[in-house]
Amino acid sequence: MKNDDLRLFFALGCPPELAEAIATWRSHLHLPGRPVATANLHLTLAFLGQLPRARVAELQGLGGVVHAPVFDLHLDRLGRHRNGLLYLAPSHTPEALLELVEQLNTSLSSAAIQLESRPFRAHLSLLRHCPTQPIDANPSFDWPVTRFSLFASEQNTRGTHYRPLHTWPLLCDEQDGGFSAD
Ligand code: ATP
Ligand code: MG
Repeated sequence: MKNDDLRLFFALGCPPELAEAIATWRSHLHLPGRPVATANLHLTLAFLGQLPRARVAELQGLGGVVHAPVFDLHLDRLGRHRNGLLYLAPSHTPEALLELVEQLNTSLSSAAIQLESRPFRAHLSLLRHCPTQPIDANPSFDWPVTRFSLFASEQNTRGTHYRPLHTWPLLCDEQDGGFSAD
C-alpha cells in the first residue's frame, strides 16, 4: 500500500451501546477465535480497497448524493463462513438496507470506482478463526439505523482501527416525503 493510499469502506458503524451488548453476549458464548474489537463492530456496505488519500473529498461528494431512509435492522441469525468467520446477520434483510447499498454502488460506479463483484450479504463480523458454530445462541439485537459512514481501515499497535472520515444521516420518515396522520 502506497504512503498516500487509504484502505476505505462505507459501513454502518455499530452504536456503542449496541456494540457493548453484542460483545457481552459474544463473551458468554465462550468460543475460541479472534474477536473483532468491540469498537470495530460494523456492517460493511461497500468495500473500496486502497485509494489515494486525495480522493476522499470526491468520495464525500459521492456519499452525499445517497438519499435513503432510516430503517430497523434485526440481527437474529448467527452464521459461520468456511474460513471460520462467525457473524451476526438479519434473517430478513430490510429493503431500505438494500436500497442504501444500491444507491451507494450506483454513485460509486459513476466515478468508476471498482467494487466487489460478489452480491451484498448483510453481516456483522464477530469472531475470526472460529472452529465451531453454537446452535443454541439465539441472538436478537435491534439496531435502529440512522446513519452511515466512510471509514479508513488503519493499523496501529493494538491492531486494526477504523477511522470514520465522514458520516451521513439517513432520511427520517418526515424527510422521506411520507405523511403520517395523527
Ligand atoms: P483485518 O483484515 O485487519 O483482520 P478487517 O478485515 O476488519 O481486519 P479490513 O480488511 O480493512 O479490516 O476490512 C474492512 C472491512 O471491509 C471489513 O468489514 C471487511 O470484511 C471488508 N472487506 C475487506 N476486504 C474485502 C473485500 N475484498 N471485499 C469485500 N469486503 C471486504
Ligand atoms: Mg480483512
